[in-house]
Amino acid sequence: APYQVADVHELLDSTLMMLAGKIGSGVRIVKDYDRSLPRIPAYPGELNQVWTNLIDNAASAMGGEGTLTVRTALEREQLLVEFRDTGPGVPEEIRGRIFDPFFTTKPVGEGTGLGLDISWRIVVNKHHGHLQVHSEPGDTRFQVFLPLTAEES
Ligand code: ADP
Ligand code: MG
Repeated sequence: APYQVADVHELLDSTLMMLAGKIGSGVRIVKDYDRSLPRIPAYPGELNQVWTNLIDNAASAMGGEGTLTVRTALEREQLLVEFRDTGPGVPEEIRGRIFDPFFTTKPVGEGTGLGLDISWRIVVNKHHGHLQVHSEPGDTRFQVFLPLTAEES
């Protein structure tokens, strides 16, 4: 897909719409968007893949009950997209491995362990951004930082 100038809120909304049935009615979705943020250079289809995985992970961590907050903000001169869930969190002892390819704690057939690996490559390698996690029980945040302007690759 070509590099475009994209509105992250449109991308987030379309992904949330696509996943609505899968997320389940027990999960409350809160959109906390900063609508004044500029459009940014992006590969839209690939960012949608990132949102899809982070939302899917959050929903499955919450087991169908909880709150998913999708927040956008300007932070560190980058566009932050944060997915926050109220699930049990990422245990300390696996935190260093969740971005590894094929690492999963899900039963065989349910998780490939590729979602965060692919998301990392899309955010860091393709968009020259950052992907971070902050997690404690009841409050887990996966944060995607994206540059506001095109950079040299
Ligand atoms: P998969 O979803 O197929 O397991 P991922 O790469 O997307 O693979 O995630 C790897 C692992 O990271 C998950 O199996 C889970 O243990 C952990 N994880 C990811 N997101 C969350 C989250 N929001 N809350 C708790 N654990 C998470
Ligand atoms: Mg996943």
